[in-house]
Amino acid sequence: WISTGPKTAAFEKKFAEMLHVDHAVALSNCTVSLHLALKLTGVKSGDEVICPSLTFVATVNSIRYVVAVPVFADVTSYENPTIDPEDILKKITPKTKAVVVMHYGGFACDMDRIMEIAKTYNLKVIEDACNGPLAEYKGKKLCTIGDIGCFSFFSNKNISTGEGGMLITNNQEYADRCKLLRSHGMTSMSYDRAKGHSTAYDVIELGYNYRMDDIHSSIGLAQLDKIEADLVKRSEIRKAYIDQLKGIEGIIIPFENYTDFSSNYIFPIVLQHSTFEKRDKVREQLAEAGIQTSVHYPAVHRFLIYKDFYSELPVTDYLVDNLITLPMYSKLTSENIQFIAATLKEVLSNG
Ligand SMILES: *Cc1c(COP(=O)(O)O)cnc(C)c1O
Repeated sequence: WISTGPKTAAFEKKFAEMLHVDHAVALSNCTVSLHLALKLTGVKSGDEVICPSLTFVATVNSIRYVVAVPVFADVTSYENPTIDPEDILKKITPKTKAVVVMHYGGFACDMDRIMEIAKTYNLKVIEDACNGPLAEYKGKKLCTIGDIGCFSFFSNKNISTGEGGMLITNNQEYADRCKLLRSHGMTSMSYDRAKGHSTAYDVIELGYNYRMDDIHSSIGLAQLDKIEADLVKRSEIRKAYIDQLKGIEGIIIPFENYTDFSSNYIFPIVLQHSTFEKRDKVREQLAEAGIQTSVHYPAVHRFLIYKDFYSELPVTDYLVDNLITLPMYSKLTSENIQFIAATLKEVLSNG
């Protein structure tokens, strides 16, 4: 059996065990996981959903899939580029139904404050932890604190199945309905029928084909065996980076004094007193030295399709123009890190 079957069930079981959560439902990617999360929590046309702009566009697109209105909140600071709970508070209206938070780089949002606000205003909380499998907030795994958590197994994530996603929750009703919605709203799956477990099915909701198959799940199972060691390596690399970069003037290292366990999905730095022209110049010079960099992320609120959802987000605006994501992967050596730090120092002192 190569579409959704026993390997997918095994992948879900193992993922749920590793995250200490009751239910994990494997899906074809994280974007559809976010779509279903919004559907499951009852977000409907015209409802407002508060979200960050400093995220990958899928976090926000999924809000549009249910024809809800994304309301962008700023991030806290250059040192902590996760959604600012106080800005969430300011953006709440009678129409607000949910908050989608994104654990930037595998570093947790201020979940205590966010859950407190959500409780007061009766809001659902969806966690996008595409950047943070196994990362923690005060001893709890990310994505197990709000109502629903969503993961991606795209090629560039901590765990990859090529394409893939997972929705996790402690809510039995959400999990059951998620399984229904991922497979056309059908009451039984082909695998059950082939095994003689059931012969007929009904279609009781307008569902989708959002399934993960057993080929991808087999890759996922193998990846889960490797992730813990990989995350330990990444923690060491982060430490080495901080040691090397600490003395360099003109940069901020976000989450520098962070103490919870992180997945270290990326290693971002922020240039101080800078502009996007300056930042791009630095990136070019690093590229010339053979150092590949990236920017996580372009601001979603500045994309053409979101121009009608504009919000003033000064911290996000500065960050997206002045962030640089340095190389981060478990095979990075201490020589690599020394070279990157020395090159960066030289580039900055020339500029
Ligand atoms: C990758 C990513 C997504 C989308 O995941 P897919 O599996 O590619 O659909 C959503 N949000 C964030 C923060 C991501 O990094």
